[in-house]
Amino acid sequence: MSAKKILITGGAGFIGSATVRNIINNTEHSVVNVDRLTYAGNLQSLISIENDARYTFEHIDICDSSEIRRIFNKHQPDIVMHLAAESHVDRSIDGPGDFIQTNIVGTYVLLEEARFYWSDLNCVRKDNFRFHHVSTDEVYGDLHGTTDLFTEDTPYSPSSPYSASKASSDHLVRAWQRTYKLPTLITNCSNNYGPYQFPEKLIPLTICHALEGKNIPIYGNGKQIRDWLYVDDHARALLHVALTGTVGETYNIGGHNELQNLDVVKTICGILDQLAPSEFEGIDRYEQLIRYVDDRVGHDVRYAIDASKISNDLKWMPDETFITGITKTVKWYLQNKSWCREVQTVVDQDERLQMSKS
Ligand code: NAD
Repeated sequence: MSAKKILITGGAGFIGSATVRNIINNTEHSVVNVDRLTYAGNLQSLISIENDARYTFEHIDICDSSEIRRIFNKHQPDIVMHLAAESHVDRSIDGPGDFIQTNIVGTYVLLEEARFYWSDLNCVRKDNFRFHHVSTDEVYGDLHGTTDLFTEDTPYSPSSPYSASKASSDHLVRAWQRTYKLPTLITNCSNNYGPYQFPEKLIPLTICHALEGKNIPIYGNGKQIRDWLYVDDHARALLHVALTGTVGETYNIGGHNELQNLDVVKTICGILDQLAPSEFEGIDRYEQLIRYVDDRVGHDVRYAIDASKISNDLKWMPDETFITGITKTVKWYLQNKSWCREVQTVVDQDERLQMSKS
């Protein structure tokens, strides 16, 4: 396969940076990373590849159509992988506006600019062009049974402003494929974990709080079930779908690791007890830091993915089990405490600025 130029949006975020590192480190393809650098975007996550001749960064908001048009014309991508999004459910409950703007309007802008660019390509490049939209299993809503799974045909039933905005963007992508024949693909993935995840989500928050001797909050009774996927497995799957998936298709991606939140937190505490025993007064085991807090409003109870389509059609399988992936993750956070401090300082400053504005 010839080397491709891949335009990645949100490449400074958690999954985006893993995708960029995977492509630069393991393939011949080149990457243009388009990112607005919100609180969740951090160029520190890309230091290991930032000087590679096949990597370029463009500090741009995907909602800015003239800038996106300039980027398409300047870089002439073969593939778009669209990951940029507001991604934290709690933030979407506190303030849905940014989610509507980036996730829906931003996707619309990107689709329109991709369509204008694609329609002017020559026949061969037009046939080979791909627009890969990266989405979430949260668009399917809540599973009430204990064994049923989300398939690609499960009806959409999003519960939060975040998942509703992602569902809207998926609908836009399908419409652009059906109406304009833009060659799109969609993936819907389960919860990711791994290095460089911003410490507001369950796993990095648990690790960072434990290491600082702070309480570890658990929503409700902690029995919510998620299907956990190691981020590098997701990054591999994304590139594989972009390169080999069938146009117009959707692929669910999952880790075959259904676990209750409480078990995830207890597993992390157990690993930390071994690797970095507590030196905090009165805390012999990190589990003692667990505190139950009021449940998230509209909290979905269970998500679980049937990933048989991507496994049968594209021969993709995850490499990591939850135990191998979470052990790597905890070790990474232990070795990168300064990364956590740095990204949290940026947010503290942002939040201070927000407060002083009001
Ligand atoms: P993230 O919040 O870590 O990163 C999002 C990135 O997008 C950041 O770098 C941010 O700066 C950038 N961004 C936000 N708004 C932008 C804008 N208007 N213009 C340009 N860049 C902008 O998110 P993530 O966890 O890496 O998720 C990436 C994608 O994968 C999202 O689309 C998300 O919905 C999807 N997804 C995430 C998970 C998960 O568990 N994290 C699971 C399934 C799907």
